[in-house]
Amino acid sequence: MNETNPWERSQKQLKKTAARLNLNPLLLALLSEHARDIKVSLPIKLDNGDIKIFTGYRLQHNNLRGPYKGGLRYHSEVSDDEVKALSFWMTMKNAVIDVPFGGSKGGITVNPKELSENELEALTRAFTQAIADVIGPEKDIPAPDVNTNSKIMGWVVDEYSKIVGSDTKAVATGKSIELGGSEGRAEATGLGGVYSLIASLKKLSVSYQGMTVAIQGFGNVGRHAAEFLIKEGFKVVALSDSKGGIYIPEGIVDIVEVEKFKESKGYLAGCYCIGSVCDISNKEKVGGRDITNEELIELPVDILVPAALENVITHENAPKIKAKYILEMANGPTTIEADEILTKNSIQVIPDILANSGGVAVSYFEWYQNLHNEKWDKDIVFAKLKNKMEKSVDGVFEMSKKYQTTLREGAYLLALTRLEKAFTEKS
Ligand code: NAD
Repeated sequence: MNETNPWERSQKQLKKTAARLNLNPLLLALLSEHARDIKVSLPIKLDNGDIKIFTGYRLQHNNLRGPYKGGLRYHSEVSDDEVKALSFWMTMKNAVIDVPFGGSKGGITVNPKELSENELEALTRAFTQAIADVIGPEKDIPAPDVNTNSKIMGWVVDEYSKIVGSDTKAVATGKSIELGGSEGRAEATGLGGVYSLIASLKKLSVSYQGMTVAIQGFGNVGRHAAEFLIKEGFKVVALSDSKGGIYIPEGIVDIVEVEKFKESKGYLAGCYCIGSVCDISNKEKVGGRDITNEELIELPVDILVPAALENVITHENAPKIKAKYILEMANGPTTIEADEILTKNSIQVIPDILANSGGVAVSYFEWYQNLHNEKWDKDIVFAKLKNKMEKSVDGVFEMSKKYQTTLREGAYLLALTRLEKAFTEKS
């Protein structure tokens, strides 16, 4: 098996857990494939008049529990196997957090930071046209992921609404509030992760005040996780993005200030910060320094939070990890070989399909509000999110206790049990 191929990895995990449950073989066969695997060519006229062809993917894994649901990723490394794994994980995640959705994912192989805003919009609209037949509020609902945001979701909704001839807000979630987005969706994945961490630490009888945290990835997820962790009394000592990281052992106190530094150099394509967390100017004065993303993983902290991309914890760096807890906010940050090392070293991993499920929980709230023409206040959204995360943590701990296994396997066991129930009801 290729350690870094996320699809091969997800299948290994699926088969291992299915065997423990004696899962219905027909369901196992269904979950081992995708219901629909779409690859589209997207010719775009660039601002200089050249035509460039991009490749887009939309993979619908399974809809036993409801319409397909999953994000859109814009990144130069997007591939069929990556999107296959991400859509499979969405099926599992939606079952763990218990929202009535199946799993899907999409993406475009592109470095969006090399495009102008016009080109980015044209690419998004072309992609929406290409997949318009298979998405929709009752079919498949995209959302933001790496390098996509509320502005891009707004273009998806606008283009789709033009195609079907009616304003269809519920075709995508993660929109801006003005375009029908939900209060609290921007914060949801990060905050949901913090709720899942606190609930897990309480179950493990660990007092968390003052625990130190290193976060890899200062995007939508990492940024909000950092802010809520600090509010809850954790000490965030390291942050990073694709350009590098900062380590301030005394603790970073003001995330809004870090964000201001990052944004101070302006934006590419109207969406992406040119600056980095490394631009924070007073770090030396408070005893801080620049670090690499590799160093961040191995810092002497209590909690490590990967919140960027897959495969950052491997068999090479896993033995050097000093954190006692890992909160997987990114999808698929840990390889199977690394996972085995972490388990052997008694490092507790709160797995991705639980830790980052707050995003899709509030996406479900957004979809529901759109369909019922409702607008919920942020405190109501946060209270519902907390409740969902705590219930999922309960379910995962219960499963891992019952089967005497890790939280990751507990989460898979919970998801498969719920999927088997839906499968039996429909058979
Ligand atoms: P984002 O595009 O907003 O931010 C990604 C961050 O990762 C940026 O700070 C970027 O600079 C950084 N990054 C990129 N390459 C890196 C590298 N090699 N090393 C270190 N940092 C790097 O994306 P996001 O929405 O915050 O998503 C982050 C992760 O969370 C992804 O794995 C995504 O699938 C997962 N996730 C996101 C959501 C959501 O609601 N957005 C929900 C669930 C899971």
